[in-house]
Amino acid sequence: MQRYIVIHYGEIALKLGNRKFFEAKLIENIRRALKDFGKIWLRHQHGRIIILTEENFDLEKIKHQLEKVFGIEYFAFAWNSEQDLEIIKKDLYGLVKKKKFKTFRITVRRAQKSFFLNSQKIAEKLGEFVMKKMKKKVDLTDFDLNCFVDIVDNYAFLYFDKISGRGGLPVGVSGSLLCLISGGIDSPVAANLMQKRGARIVFVHFDSYPATPKENREKVKELVNVLNGYQHDSLLYVVPFLEIQKEILKVAPDDYRVIFYRRMMLRLAQKIAVTEGILALVTGESLGQVASQTVENITAVSQVTSLPIFRPLIGFNKEEIIEIARKIETYNLSIQPFDDCCSLYMPKHPVTRANLQLILEREKNWDFEKLVEAAIKGVERYKFSEKNII
Ligand code: ATP
Ligand code: MG
Repeated sequence: MQRYIVIHYGEIALKLGNRKFFEAKLIENIRRALKDFGKIWLRHQHGRIIILTEENFDLEKIKHQLEKVFGIEYFAFAWNSEQDLEIIKKDLYGLVKKKKFKTFRITVRRAQKSFFLNSQKIAEKLGEFVMKKMKKKVDLTDFDLNCFVDIVDNYAFLYFDKISGRGGLPVGVSGSLLCLISGGIDSPVAANLMQKRGARIVFVHFDSYPATPKENREKVKELVNVLNGYQHDSLLYVVPFLEIQKEILKVAPDDYRVIFYRRMMLRLAQKIAVTEGILALVTGESLGQVASQTVENITAVSQVTSLPIFRPLIGFNKEEIIEIARKIETYNLSIQPFDDCCSLYMPKHPVTRANLQLILEREKNWDFEKLVEAAIKGVERYKFSEKNII
């Protein structure tokens, strides 16, 4: 028997109108995730994607790569048997006799309806066989071993472990979003949650070098590199921000500095979004997490752009965000302690209820357009390709 990967996808199967487009994207993303393995044999049949593995394939690495492909509900490393009950029995016995268990169940899914028995009958016959041959007990709810039998593509695939994917939609089906990424914990998680909903992310970072260390920029690049593993080609814009901050020191009341920073960030982000043909922005804000994230402050900041701002973390607790950050492997990078632009010139007590009138008054006579233009001129653009996959 050979080893195959059987991939089941969930939600996308329901999107009837776009189904073909969604499936094609998923397959393209799977191929890209497995690019290191050379040319792979892949088939798409009856709502499953089936891949033949070769002996030299590192299954752990495949697992790690597939866990990053959104749209996958679960997958399994399976053995192929044939659509013949006696052969399935023989093959199943060959596999289960090496396993330690007292109770078991057989779980059959039959995509190929032409097989002469229905799922229930196949499960009964195989259950009876294993029970007699191995003297083990069937227990449908409290079992040590679950034997999956997937009847599809002229095969009967046998496996024992389902590996959960993260579901969602294949990256690319929802268009592109521009994520404001700091070196912190939250914004990389926000980007990843939008990738989960099928969005390709373009990144923008505001950098106050040389007032902040260049390690901060390197850290942001590494974060983008990790997130690139979910989409396989990414773009990071780094915008010089120090001059703007210096001007803000002159214009804004001390306790309003962060609000002025954010308004300028959004103006710059909007410009980049427009050149990229992107329709919405993403940030990592969570309501009330810090002073700048009160309803009043978020409202005062959002007002500078007509683009929608997606804040996927708005209702998340810090612990929940950290849990995702660990899972997606950005956490250890994010907690490296380098100052970023927002830690520069921080007042002791930032305002928590910004007064929009006051902000508009101060900005009225401030020629920030010139600063915006200069910053855009100084933008650096970094490309991340599949080679960066880590
Ligand atoms: P994070 O953990 O993402 O830094 P945070 O909780 O520290 O978030 P803030 O510092 O208030 O929150 O920033 C709010 C959001 O503004 C960030 O999540 C990010 O989207 C954006 N942002 C902040 N600083 C920068 C920056 N230097 N470059 C790009 N975006 C930034
Ligand atoms: Mg931050």
